[in-house]
Amino acid sequence: MISQSEWRWFGNAGHFICSRNCQFHLCTVVGDFMVSTVGEYVPDEGVREIIANSRGIRLQGKGDERLADYMEKIGYESIGFRRTYETMVFKVEGVCDAPECDCGQPMPKNWQEVDSDGYNSKFAANDGHYRMCLKFASMAVPTT
Ligand SMILES: [Zn+2]
Repeated sequence: MISQSEWRWFGNAGHFICSRNCQFHLCTVVGDFMVSTVGEYVPDEGVREIIANSRGIRLQGKGDERLADYMEKIGYESIGFRRTYETMVFKVEGVCDAPECDCGQPMPKNWQEVDSDGYNSKFAANDGHYRMCLKFASMAVPTT
């Protein structure tokens, strides 16, 4: 069992190609595993226009007003099948070596997830992330 004091939390998302547009993200390294949860995906302006048009929704206003209208009429975009939040778990190996990034965040060994879950509320996503961390903490085999 890995105690919670040994879990390492990171402020950047751990996975998902559009994670920079996710307002919700948790990233915790538990032993050799990264537990990453993202959600509340708000696409870039151009993509929002395409989504609205494809659904026959007419957006009003400009700038922040238009974004607010989008959020009222459409809301967060799904990031998986019928889910607006998802957790994925990856085995980690080494740390991020992107030039000038300096995050020190462990990197997935490969992008093959070893576990996952999906949710549709903030509460479920927070709770699910924490429970996934506990699951991998309890699976850890002592190295000594
Ligand atoms: Zn980095």
